[in-house]
Amino acid sequence: MMGNYLDAGSPSCLGIMAEEYLGNWVFTQDGLVPGCVRSRDGLAEELLLEDPPPESTRSIVLPAFVNAHTHLGDAFAYPAPKGSVEEIVGPGGYKHRALASATDEEKRSGMRASLDLMWRTGTTSFIDFREEGLQGVSCLRDVTIDADIGGVVLGRPAGPSSTDDDLRALIGQCDGLAFSSISDWPLDLLEKASGMCKRFDKVFALHASESRREDIEAILRLEPDFLVHMTAASEDDIAACADKRVPIVVCPRSNKAFGLSPDIPMLLRLGVSVALGTDNAMICEPDMMSEIRAAYHLGASAGGLSEFDAVRLATYSGHKVLNPKRKITTELSTSDDLVVIDVQGEDPLLELVSSDGSAEVSAVIQNGMVRRMKVWTA
Ligand SMILES: [Zn+2]
Repeated sequence: MMGNYLDAGSPSCLGIMAEEYLGNWVFTQDGLVPGCVRSRDGLAEELLLEDPPPESTRSIVLPAFVNAHTHLGDAFAYPAPKGSVEEIVGPGGYKHRALASATDEEKRSGMRASLDLMWRTGTTSFIDFREEGLQGVSCLRDVTIDADIGGVVLGRPAGPSSTDDDLRALIGQCDGLAFSSISDWPLDLLEKASGMCKRFDKVFALHASESRREDIEAILRLEPDFLVHMTAASEDDIAACADKRVPIVVCPRSNKAFGLSPDIPMLLRLGVSVALGTDNAMICEPDMMSEIRAAYHLGASAGGLSEFDAVRLATYSGHKVLNPKRKITTELSTSDDLVVIDVQGEDPLLELVSSDGSAEVSAVIQNGMVRRMKVWTA
């Protein structure tokens, strides 16, 4: 269940002009170019890549954000206490004790709040690693079914003794399987899970080398569709992922909470497809603007990421992870999910990735409809 948004197609509420122009710039795969969205009565009619008319809003139009790694199931436990990866999210750690003691309704309530926050901050798709077997998957499905955000729900068996039938039943209820790490699970179960995902054309993914380095050869033999973290991986490990064209999702804010840090410039230099995720919702709210800013500020003194690359991670690169088997959109149109971000200064991308908070999401365009955030009425 989402909150109530007043669409721009409600002129009686908002005094919206029949025709309006949104944006001064469009964020394309080649960079920021002059452009805007022309809309009429709240319906986006055309994406124009040309100098906008003077009345157009001072905004950037981008593909809506993809949050490539979430655990919305633990949003109810926000904020989590401080501790190591093992103490907080490892097997038997704080997170799993919290999940075991919470009711499904508490979990659903946290997930709904996360979906609302994602929508208001310009995210229209996410990939979730859902714990707790079939029950966990069904709990998340309950809240995504009528949401405006598209969720790729990846389940995890309830325990290491899961049978083939258990795996098959789980896969039948979600978009694939995702595991905590190769170190936490019996290898034969992971091999079965990977094989089954391939057979049923589902996604198979893993966290890997988060706080300690894991055997990349063994991980890649499982043929993952993507890996998450790789903060403790060596440069050779990253190169092996690039060689196998396995994307890596990084989560700078979550890593920071554990004293870790992804080397995003190195990942990009080695040719890896890198996307951004917000990880455990009990640690970081699923706000991609904050994640972009964290990625941008990482290692800024050593050159770091360009403003363009920081935003690309959350948009075009996120779509590569989201749709590994589908054509990647290279040319935007009003039929794509778009986000409109208002800016004030002269350097819009720098403003978007900097931390002063002046750039803010003013509208999301979905199914051709302009939906404004500034009139959010939760
Ligand atoms: Zn995670």
